[in-house]
Amino acid sequence: MIVQFPDFYPDELVYSLLARYYVRSGSPSHAHVAGTLFMRNSTHLETRFVCPYNPDAFAMITRNQTMEDVVLKHTMFPYYARFAEKDRRDKAFLSLVQMETQRYELLLIPKKKERLRARLRFCPICAKEDREKYGETYWHREHQIIDIGICPKHHCRLISREVRKCTLTPAEELAQEDTPILSDNGIERKVADYIAEVFRADIDFSSDIDSGKFLLSCLEYTKYLSARGQRRNISLLLSDFTDFYNGLPNNTLTKMWQFERIFIGKIRNVYEICLLALFLGIPASDLTGMKLPDQTQTEKFDSRVLQLHRQGISCAAITEQTKASYNTVFAIIRKSR
Ligand SMILES: [Zn+2]
Repeated sequence: MIVQFPDFYPDELVYSLLARYYVRSGSPSHAHVAGTLFMRNSTHLETRFVCPYNPDAFAMITRNQTMEDVVLKHTMFPYYARFAEKDRRDKAFLSLVQMETQRYELLLIPKKKERLRARLRFCPICAKEDREKYGETYWHREHQIIDIGICPKHHCRLISREVRKCTLTPAEELAQEDTPILSDNGIERKVADYIAEVFRADIDFSSDIDSGKFLLSCLEYTKYLSARGQRRNISLLLSDFTDFYNGLPNNTLTKMWQFERIFIGKIRNVYEICLLALFLGIPASDLTGMKLPDQTQTEKFDSRVLQLHRQGISCAAITEQTKASYNTVFAIIRKSR
């Protein structure tokens, strides 16, 4: 029987809630408490997402909110699915709501980062604040955003602790006696703030706007696109991007092909998309509520060329006015005939 089940704290992982319950329950052993919470005693304890809970535990976890809200507000789902294709995102969400742990491949979790799953991180300043406010600390989701090394709230270095497999370990046990080290790295702080803002924003499940197309639309009328908007100057983009992120400890976008893959929607990880969006000056709210312009730069360009042509202006003069090549202008006019 489950008694004294705690309530979620803001931004708390489900794992953390269960670990606090374990301590509160005064249960004689981990195996005993696992038997009251999980469908199978041997369940591998997923620290960042959900496990198959037994009906009593499920009822407790969802007593104040739906399982959908639990997945959205108390797991790392938004970090690993926000920019996934609509169909994939919907399936991943449903699989977590139904606690189907074998469906994790639907989430965009880079393989090399997987090895970090047995570790959880905390911010010593948040831990102190939690103890003052709640009398205990807990595992926060925002500290588990693997691509950033500082707390978005305090810009303090996060401290990593190993969590033993198949055990519920509360933050109160491991988040102890660490002196805060503040980051004075401006770009690192900016990136952490931006990513946290994106992470916190609601996900619009009805939207099927492609992140690549959206970012490409944000390149329009910049020096990174040709006059007609068809040719991308990725080499210049990479060079400016590298300067912008000089000093960032974890700049993962260093090759031209990576930018191409973002624009065609093959790279959809939150971190890489946020780095590019921040560089392009896109507000986090625009990125989380992506909208495409009614007409692309190319469509607008072609209409302008045809309009000038209809006014009887010569190809050479149109070329002069639009800064495109003669061949481009000629091809647009020929195609319209
Ligand atoms: Zn903090």
